[in-house]
Amino acid sequence: MALIVQKFGGTSVGSVERIQAVARRVKREIDAGHQVAVVVSAMAGTTNDLVAKCQALSPLHDAREYDVVVAAGEQISSGLVAIALQTAGVNARSWQGWQIPVSTDDVHAKARIAAIATDEIKRRMAEGQVPVVSGFQGIASDGRVTTLGRGGSDTSAVALAAALGADRCDIFTDVDGVYTCDPRIVAKARKLDKITHEEMLEMASLGAKVLQTRSVELAMSQGVRVQVLSSFVDSPGTLVVGEDEVVEQEVVSGIAYSRDEAKVTLIGVQDRPGVAAAIFGPLSEASINVDMIVQNVSEDGKTTGLTFTVGRADLDRTVQLLSQRQKDLGYVRLVPDANVVKVSVIGVGMRSHVGVAQLMFQTLASKGINIQVISTSEIKISVLIAEEYTELALRALHTAYGLDRD
Ligand code: ADP
Ligand code: ASP
Ligand code: MG
Repeated sequence: MALIVQKFGGTSVGSVERIQAVARRVKREIDAGHQVAVVVSAMAGTTNDLVAKCQALSPLHDAREYDVVVAAGEQISSGLVAIALQTAGVNARSWQGWQIPVSTDDVHAKARIAAIATDEIKRRMAEGQVPVVSGFQGIASDGRVTTLGRGGSDTSAVALAAALGADRCDIFTDVDGVYTCDPRIVAKARKLDKITHEEMLEMASLGAKVLQTRSVELAMSQGVRVQVLSSFVDSPGTLVVGEDEVVEQEVVSGIAYSRDEAKVTLIGVQDRPGVAAAIFGPLSEASINVDMIVQNVSEDGKTTGLTFTVGRADLDRTVQLLSQRQKDLGYVRLVPDANVVKVSVIGVGMRSHVGVAQLMFQTLASKGINIQVISTSEIKISVLIAEEYTELALRALHTAYGLDRD
């Protein structure tokens, strides 16, 4: 008998019929003698709709109220899945984040899980009850509802699997595994049987939303066995494993992209010590993540240009914060640009191979695509380009690195 956490994403609970299919899948494991804890996302489209409503009322809305609104989607699906399971003859009960509780820090809209209380759930599971847990939700120490950032149900599932000491965590979604690139954009993308934690971590943090980044970090640090698979078909998925479990390693194993980027350029910045700290300090205090940064060489020794990227959702606040400080910071002009995408190639094999970056630059140049910003780490190279070139760039790079399916 195994203890399994099964997580179902938005499309997998997207309709009454899909919810009935989820119930059948859970029942199959129960009938086989396993213990199952279920984690659910909101029904497909629900969270986007709730986010849009907050945005429409105020682009700079209160993050505490945003959490109250967006957490509601998961409450609906957990109740519906529990009803479907009960109807199928399975003893099931829904749980909201605050009821368990899933304790988090108080960084609203991107909270991190601190602890999950499992005594009561474990007791009920031992009696044969299936918990149906709302993913994405938590509760801060002041008792207010928090959410874990977009895609956060993956993290709820892995954290619950760790807390319960589960044998594995199955992430059911609308594709049958992790591919070399988003299969919805690159038709020739290949499904990977296995991917290393490190590569999955890079793929996720660089935009492959098939798993939330934090869920991969947790799987790695807590030793949770994660599998990504489809809730629509019965086929083996992709296992996220340690490096020692992957025998043959490609130089480049995947390509990711993120449209969730915005570029900010400050023109005429004073070229003196402390300016970068004065610019990025307020952003970090406001929990705004800055990703790529380039500072141009000063031509006159007095002023310079500075370009950096933030998440698209943080652009308005970034502009607001920096505009308020224009006098102190002493820059001439601020140019925001949300029409950008970050494209990244990833592979642990990059550590031991040269020419990987060159092939990326050459390939983009041959398609007439201008690179605006570049950043690299040991196992990835990222470039920022204009958003309209996303598909063209991904397909050209996928072919250039020999990743196309035969
Ligand atoms: P869920 O609602 O089940 O959590 P998501 O939409 O969050 O599903 O994640 C699944 C989607 O991730 C897929 O539909 C696919 O378009 C996208 N995706 C992006 N990159 C990849 C990749 N490398 N492999 C598989 N899917 C990917
Ligand atoms: N419903 C949330 C979202 O759309 C969480 C999730 O799906 O994982 O971001
Ligand atoms: Mg998701």
